[in-house]
Amino acid sequence: MKIGILGGTFDPPHVGHLAVAESVRDQLELDEVVFVPAARNPMKDRRAHAGHKHRLAMLRVMAEGKPGLGVSDIEITRGGSSYMVETLEELHLVQPADYWLILGSDALQGFSEWRHPERICRFAGVAAVIRPPMEKVTFPLPDYLENVLDWVECRPPNISSTRVRSMLQRRDEDVVRWLDPRVYEYIQRHRLYRIED
Ligand code: ATP
Ligand code: MG
Repeated sequence: MKIGILGGTFDPPHVGHLAVAESVRDQLELDEVVFVPAARNPMKDRRAHAGHKHRLAMLRVMAEGKPGLGVSDIEITRGGSSYMVETLEELHLVQPADYWLILGSDALQGFSEWRHPERICRFAGVAAVIRPPMEKVTFPLPDYLENVLDWVECRPPNISSTRVRSMLQRRDEDVVRWLDPRVYEYIQRHRLYRIED
């Protein structure tokens, strides 16, 4: 089994996350790409705006019915700060497979600050995509990363969860183009991201 792991806060999940997951799945011929929402991202200085339950539910409605896409609650269930090295260790125990960690180029840039990045690269290959507005990677990459890195050709939309949240707060209806319709419907139904909290 070849399994891709796309970790993040997904606050909320948007079409950029979906485009990345589907491109990597298809180009690396993965059996599945699994979205793994973090309980808490140790690199972000504040908690997510939406709670665990909502972020998991939004990912589930987004992945539903799309072949080769799944969602795991492994980091939410573990709780506390979410470290990818621990997630990969746990995944190797419960479901041995050929794992690929998927990163946008912004995440790739900060990767050496993660906990045990070299160990991560022994547990998994790294599939990276350029995230706009970045056009190419100009920062240096450590050898341990370069050795396991596979660039995937993908032109993901230039969108972030931060921008989606701000559009939702302003009630900007153009936000629908950046969200899976079922995620938009979920956000409206649960009145998420209405006020800065
Ligand atoms: P925020 O604005 O809250 O940081 P985000 O849009 O960056 O949200 P994250 O949950 O932080 O989303 O990102 C998870 C992963 O998805 C990271 O590896 C990130 O690089 C990647 N990613 C998110 N959006 C895009 C995009 N538009 N294009 C390419 N990669 C993306
Ligand atoms: Mg981000």
